[in-house]
Amino acid sequence: MTTARSQTGTGENLAETFSEYVPSVEARDIVSIKPRYGLLIGGEEREPLQGGAFATIEPSSGDHLAEISEGTQADVDEAVAAARGAFEAGWRDLAPRVRAKYIFRLARLIQDRARELAVLESIDGGKPIRESRDIDIPLSAAHFFYHAGWADKLEYAVPGMRTAPLGVMGQIIPWNFPVLMAAWKMAPALACGNTVVLKPAETTSLTALLLGEIVQEADLPPGVLNIVTGAGETGAALAAHPGVDKVAFTGSTAVGKKIARQVAGTGRRLTLELGGKGAHVVFDDAALDQAIEGIVDAIFFNQGHVCCAGSRLLVQEGIADHLLGRLKQRMELLRVGDPLDKNTDVGAINSHAQLQRITEFVEGAESEGCAIHQSGAPLPERGFWFRPTLVTGLGGSERIAREEVFGPVLTVQTFRTEAEAVAKANATRYGLSAGVWTEKGSRILWMTQRLKAGVVWANTFNQFDAASPFGGVRESGFGREGGRQGLEEYLQLEPAAK
Ligand code: ADP
Repeated sequence: MTTARSQTGTGENLAETFSEYVPSVEARDIVSIKPRYGLLIGGEEREPLQGGAFATIEPSSGDHLAEISEGTQADVDEAVAAARGAFEAGWRDLAPRVRAKYIFRLARLIQDRARELAVLESIDGGKPIRESRDIDIPLSAAHFFYHAGWADKLEYAVPGMRTAPLGVMGQIIPWNFPVLMAAWKMAPALACGNTVVLKPAETTSLTALLLGEIVQEADLPPGVLNIVTGAGETGAALAAHPGVDKVAFTGSTAVGKKIARQVAGTGRRLTLELGGKGAHVVFDDAALDQAIEGIVDAIFFNQGHVCCAGSRLLVQEGIADHLLGRLKQRMELLRVGDPLDKNTDVGAINSHAQLQRITEFVEGAESEGCAIHQSGAPLPERGFWFRPTLVTGLGGSERIAREEVFGPVLTVQTFRTEAEAVAKANATRYGLSAGVWTEKGSRILWMTQRLKAGVVWANTFNQFDAASPFGGVRESGFGREGGRQGLEEYLQLEPAAK
């Protein structure tokens, strides 16, 4: 039985690069942050045509880190034209084994510069260095390695079909896993022979831009990857662009729906990986020590800024009091603070706006009659922080029980029977992830057949692997990322001639 995420094979092997301690102060010295960043278009760093810029803030201090260019429609036009040029000038026709070499090179360079990427990810996004170091960056490298391996074997990915690239990909990513989401999108797109225009989230552009630098270092032909930074309007310009053959979006369900409307009827392709409200079901026969670690991991990993977080705990009635007591004790051990301290468990909330949103959710729950329990963790004086939080006394109709909080906040409900667990777990408009803890194999099968979620973990949570397809059902979106299934999303398929 697999339990804690620290046992993930992929993460641990690739994390060897970072075997030594990363002390907070010196860690900063290994990254250099420029005062201002341009856009990456056609292999060059360019100023945006209308010259706008916005600040990126360090969540753990509230300090200004750098100025990021605000791309507008005109910049998106140029980036799409550069991507089209690179596609037609040869990337699409490149011998697949040569394309594979480029992607392998990229994967190795990500490993070479892994410390730098991890530290910058934690500074810009607020996540604990232990997570960026052992999970985000190693998994990103793994995604490039995995897809490099597929580049010259695509005929075997979709047997019986002739494959061709789609063209220019417009990829819009969120702020919770900036490098990893870029890797999830770029690696399969490039492996299949497409070119990319990437739009990072406005609060976390720095590591995507560093990835752009790494792509340059890997000598990929100019225009194969373009990066246009900016906020929602920049994203909307990219999603609406008629020169983009496929839009791949990860973010909120609200924005996903807007994009779906923009793309509808155009014949352009779309995949959406949206919000979630993952049910985490614990039966009374579960291995409790492991289940508690699993629950903590499912909701407090990355401050709960995780679309597939196990944010709704469903506990079988007979063990509920005992489990909650143990969980509260465990929560007291979680250290909240400096993302660059390797002992930190819960880092900074990504932005002031997100902190406000989480606070409103919890205050709203209290006013709707729920009980709130927070750990007593001391919080730093500056920056954006939220203590690990439990919400009990729910009826199920409260806003916090239905909507995605995207923070370190776990709602708790009880159930008696398997059927009730399934009914409660599925009482959501989302369908990204779910988890089940039980020692009974037959019950795992019974539950996984009935839970409406794209990913169901059994006796573990938040396990990710490049070979494993990830994605949602219902309002959590459609399309898969990772695995053989993820490749199909970036290919045009025709029946192979007999
Ligand atoms: P969150 O609310 O968690 O910030 P969003 O869905 O707003 O999540 O953001 C995810 C990504 O989508 C970001 O890169 C953001 O800039 C981008 N985005 C926001 N609004 C739009 C839009 N209307 N069209 C396209 N992209 C958008």
